[in-house]
Amino acid sequence: MAEVIDGKNVAADVVAKVKALTADLAAKGKGQPGLAVVIVGEDPASQVYVASKSRTAKECGFHSVQHTLPAQTTQADLLKLIGTLNADPAIHGILVQLPLPAQIDAGTVIQAIAPEKDVDGFHFVNVGKLGTGELDTAFVPCTPAGSMLLIERVRGKDLSGLSAVVVGRSNIVGKPMANLLLAANCTVTIAHSRTKDLPALARTADILVAAVGRPEMVRGDWVKPGATVIDVGINRIPAPEKGEGKTRLVGDVAYAEAEKVAGAITPVPGGVGPMTIAMLMANTVVSAYLAAGLDRPS
Ligand code: NDP
Repeated sequence: MAEVIDGKNVAADVVAKVKALTADLAAKGKGQPGLAVVIVGEDPASQVYVASKSRTAKECGFHSVQHTLPAQTTQADLLKLIGTLNADPAIHGILVQLPLPAQIDAGTVIQAIAPEKDVDGFHFVNVGKLGTGELDTAFVPCTPAGSMLLIERVRGKDLSGLSAVVVGRSNIVGKPMANLLLAANCTVTIAHSRTKDLPALARTADILVAAVGRPEMVRGDWVKPGATVIDVGINRIPAPEKGEGKTRLVGDVAYAEAEKVAGAITPVPGGVGPMTIAMLMANTVVSAYLAAGLDRPS
């Protein structure tokens, strides 16, 4: 049976380190890291994520502010708020919760965030730095950054020569994940909805990352024996066994099958999920260090 990679544990380690860095910043007289989370509208899932981010920020000792704007907010008004936050020296990280309502262009809003406060790592400057291997100065998107930490827990930092297959090519997960694995010297293949014979390709992977959004699509016989399997997917499916109308979360990997073949695997929930918020805190404390003129903490 595969080793279960405990994301809650690793995330707790990251948060503990962020707390220590926050205390160190205060001891140096450099103030508190500040994180602003902006949410537009009342999407229930987004509200849960935002509440969780604000809670963890407070736990880390951050100055945490939340801006909740009505669903009919105009793009101009949102851009005005971003401008204010960009200019606010107490704010080191700005996160705009996606999705945004239809009248607002998410790309325009993301590019309006100052790159040095773009703790989500979605601004072209940060995307470009990751793409060119400038990892020392980039903010890397939180979910793939967290996934890398989980991979390193089982494989170590040197992934030289390992074969990695990333299923999914989104800008927030698949592509940055592939770039991180490439930077760690893996031989990387990115698969997507047009990929031919995906099961055969997946079976070549020493490291298999599933970021698709399709419940349990990756079957046990897609997994190379001993592979490290990172399941980014979060899918809610009906769970009649728990009662009428009940649901449960599953990943993009058929866990019960894959755990029999893999060397290590992340569960859903409790794998990649907890890492995303922890890495957001890590990016914010790094931003605060840099704003204070200090070296980037490692
Ligand atoms: P997107 O919908 O943006 O991207 C999905 C990708 O999967 C696309 O590249 C798509 O290919 C590919 N895909 C879809 N169907 C297939 C298929 N049948 N075979 C192969 N590839 C396919 O999703 P995200 O990247 O935003 O998210 C992926 C999953 O990760 C979701 O379940 C999401 O909920 C979860 N997630 C979890 C996070 C966490 O904190 N753990 C954070 C972010 C996301 P194509 O480009 O060709 O359409």
